[in-house]
Amino acid sequence: MCGIVGYTGPRQAYPLIIKGLKRLEYRGYDSSGVALLNGTGLKVFKKKGRVTDLEEAVIGKNLEANIGIGHTRWATHGEPSDRNAHPHSSASGKLAIIHNGIIENYAQIKQELVKKGYSFTSDTDTEVLLNFIEDIQKNNSCTLEEALRIALKRVSGAYCILLIDQDDPTTIVAARKGSPLVIGIGKGEHFLASDASPIIEYTKEVVYVNDYELAIVKPDELILKNLGNEKVTPYITKLDMELAAIEKGGYDHFMIKEIFEQPSTIYDCLRGRLDAEAGAIRMSGIEKNIEQLKNANRIMIIACGTSWHAGLVAEYIIEELCRIPVEVEYASEFRYRNPIVNKGDVIIAISQSGETADTLVALEKAKENGAFIFGIVNVVGSSIARISHAGAYTHAGPEIGVASTKAFTGQLAVLFMVALKIAQEKGTISTERFNNLVNELSEIPEKVDAILKNAEEVKKIAEVYKNASDFLFLGRGYNFPVALEGALKLKEISYIHAEGYPAAEMKHGPIALVDDTLPVVFIATKDTYHEKIVSNMQEIKARRGKIISIVTEGDEVSPGLSDHYFSIPPADELIAPILTVIPLQLLSYYVGTAKGIDVDKPRNLAKSVTVE
Ligand code: GLU
Repeated sequence: MCGIVGYTGPRQAYPLIIKGLKRLEYRGYDSSGVALLNGTGLKVFKKKGRVTDLEEAVIGKNLEANIGIGHTRWATHGEPSDRNAHPHSSASGKLAIIHNGIIENYAQIKQELVKKGYSFTSDTDTEVLLNFIEDIQKNNSCTLEEALRIALKRVSGAYCILLIDQDDPTTIVAARKGSPLVIGIGKGEHFLASDASPIIEYTKEVVYVNDYELAIVKPDELILKNLGNEKVTPYITKLDMELAAIEKGGYDHFMIKEIFEQPSTIYDCLRGRLDAEAGAIRMSGIEKNIEQLKNANRIMIIACGTSWHAGLVAEYIIEELCRIPVEVEYASEFRYRNPIVNKGDVIIAISQSGETADTLVALEKAKENGAFIFGIVNVVGSSIARISHAGAYTHAGPEIGVASTKAFTGQLAVLFMVALKIAQEKGTISTERFNNLVNELSEIPEKVDAILKNAEEVKKIAEVYKNASDFLFLGRGYNFPVALEGALKLKEISYIHAEGYPAAEMKHGPIALVDDTLPVVFIATKDTYHEKIVSNMQEIKARRGKIISIVTEGDEVSPGLSDHYFSIPPADELIAPILTVIPLQLLSYYVGTAKGIDVDKPRNLAKSVTVE
């Protein structure tokens, strides 16, 4: 999410900043902009959309400058638009700011400034902070650095800020708390960015700025201070990565990077929507259309691949919480049969890219029949987002690895919030249960993090079974779709034949495959179905199958039946799929890489399926 780049030195700032912003694109954003300083003053260019849209918008402009700041915004306060894009300039027009994060008490500060006669051109918290800084500077006749320090003492929230001042045209003043900032040290020049990827091309010497530190950055000088105005010695680190690697954030593959990003992508998905303290869910797409949604005759979920599995989980959850009948459809089947779709039906379309061809056509068809379309996509502004009446983004950031991982958990998080919100409005959930589930959901990023800390355990299991020719994945209830997803992931990434089944269905066929060479993965967490799945494990064990199980920490039964097991933190059974899928993603990754497969680009697969 969101990227910042800054430069001061002898080079042309604009091309360097644009290149840097492109390197940060993977983080996800909705608009971009640059502010440049040269002899003729401060210039700000900004545009909703991609960095290439910004480039087009500045064609023919004078972009000469040796100092500048650039930003890719991921909107939190105010819709994505040219007006809300960063940089913002101050009331006097002398200062410009870019900001990554949220100023939580901006409303109060804004009120104070409005009373003093300030007006604002954007809806952002960032513009408030900038004018607050300028106001302090004016009232105290102090430097920008001092004004920033005073302002930050009042401010709560998270930020990485870069500021430039027309009256000091070689200096960038920066500060951070909670959002990253790296400063690259060149010869007579400095580079600033959210991570090292925009910097690595120019220098390997970097300083990672710490929380509550301010940086005063000139071409040939870098001063770090704490908020108490004491100097801090910059700690210079040498980057020992090459450009290609850093684009993957230091990971060997995008897939594993994306698996490990999940604590933060899920957090980003919940951010601004889930308020555990207030016991509330805020989703404008639901709120504005609540009558339509809560009175739906039925909900049809249309999707393909991994998104279809997310839909299956949602079927269980929505029926349980909202008491609305749900059908889950493969888009490719739906579009070619003669489905019965009526006014009063709600269609939930799920797609990572928002461009999945089959899903798009299926939606057009349903829309013609009068259905209400709610889109859940990852790519902002994509076709499915545009064709939907309402929707919610998963905010997982660009998913580059072909096998979907973080988009899936984002979809589950969104679907869960959708179900909870409708249930609350419909009155089909008690306040106590609602609050419990909201709390549980808010704890998910931390629990995913805990699971990922034990990834090496999954790697060891992968080593044992990497040469198996088949796998069976079994789960019940909410975890049955996770079994399907585990099997799909393994097929995609390791080319091993795998099947997912509801554990009890296994007796109706697949059990014939079981012998002492067949690894069977059980999702056997502590839930309503636990005793039943333990019986299924016994059945496999009696036939000498190899059992790998995903169990809840503290379970004393399932590990004893397993050849290998992996423990995950306890969670409500409705939410558990967001956790149980993580070790299965890791398993497919480690088996795939152990077999030497290019897991980011497995054969025959494309990331976004835009053909039938
Ligand atoms: N809160 C700021 C905004 O909404 C910054 C968001 C970001 O981190 O990109 O504009």
